Amino acid sequence: MVGSKEKSKEKRDKRLQEISLLRTIPYSDHQRWWTSETVAVVTGANRGIGFEMVRQLAGHGLTVILTSRDENVGVEAAKILQEGGFNVDFHRLDILDSSSIQEFCEWIKEKYGFIDVLINNAGVNYNVGSDNSVEFSHMVISTNYYGTKNIINAMIPLMRHACQGARIVNVTSTLGRLKGRHSKLENEDVRAKLMDVDSLTEEIVDKTVSEFLKQVEEGTWESGGWPHSFTDYSVSKMAVNAYTRVLAKELSERPEGEKIYANCFCPGWVKTAMTGYAGNVSAEDGADTGVWLALLPDQAITGKFFAERREISF
Ligand code: NDP
Repeated sequence: MVGSKEKSKEKRDKRLQEISLLRTIPYSDHQRWWTSETVAVVTGANRGIGFEMVRQLAGHGLTVILTSRDENVGVEAAKILQEGGFNVDFHRLDILDSSSIQEFCEWIKEKYGFIDVLINNAGVNYNVGSDNSVEFSHMVISTNYYGTKNIINAMIPLMRHACQGARIVNVTSTLGRLKGRHSKLENEDVRAKLMDVDSLTEEIVDKTVSEFLKQVEEGTWESGGWPHSFTDYSVSKMAVNAYTRVLAKELSERPEGEKIYANCFCPGWVKTAMTGYAGNVSAEDGADTGVWLALLPDQAITGKFFAERREISF
């Protein structure tokens, strides 16, 4: 008899094969809204999924800014792609450092004037395997949630007003899901608040993560109904998922011609430094849905969560 693990492996392998095939189909002229003048920024792109998203976007003909908090490592990473003939530029960007964000914005303004695509990929996780320390909760929440918000807020004024709409793509995780098989959240109050997209606000999301951090400080988080594995990381991604919905709602109020579409996706369990190169998906496959979302010809999609090029529930 085939067990459920084998079944889901079979299903995943089949879907990944389909996606590999889809990746080989070139975009038609009609779908291709971008040109070599289209500017995409990817955060935390010196390695892993971020690096791979830069490579794939540049492969589609966009100008891509590879950013990294470490200048030397970033320059080296960009060089690999530049030597491969890709149109890739580099600038240092630490999403936790407001002066680095400001410097980056000035540079973009000066050199390009605008951007069209922002991929928020930079992130940290201090737990490996079944280990569940919350020792670094502040760092995880600051980077994954507040850092992502900071760079989004700084970049929105620099997003080009164009008829096809600018795009924001947030790299999150099914570990941050509120419902479904992967949801480990037991706190019904938090679930209800974050699920209710009509009344969801940035303040509610901020309060949720503050409450989590307070409970960590007080040593009471274990009875708080938070996920019991990858706890701080799951809470951070749950917050980015919720924030993506709030952001999409706000941005949808912008007038025609100034639209920005915001979505998030889970890359799967990817073989990168973050997972200690465990995982069941290559960086190439992990990057796929982010690139696909950034290039979507369909403008109406915003405020949604995706995995393997399919919409999934929050
Ligand atoms: P990596 O650890 O390889 O990459 C993370 C990147 O984020 C690195 O480039 C890192 O820089 C960068 N980074 C961390 N902090 C900052 C900061 N303050 N400012 C700028 N950059 C920063 O992991 P992945 O490629 O796997 O992760 C990419 C994204 O995908 C993350 O958001 C992660 O949470 C998400 N994800 C990954 C999954 C997986 O299975 N791998 C599953 C689900 C989501 P540095 O090299 O300097 O540390």
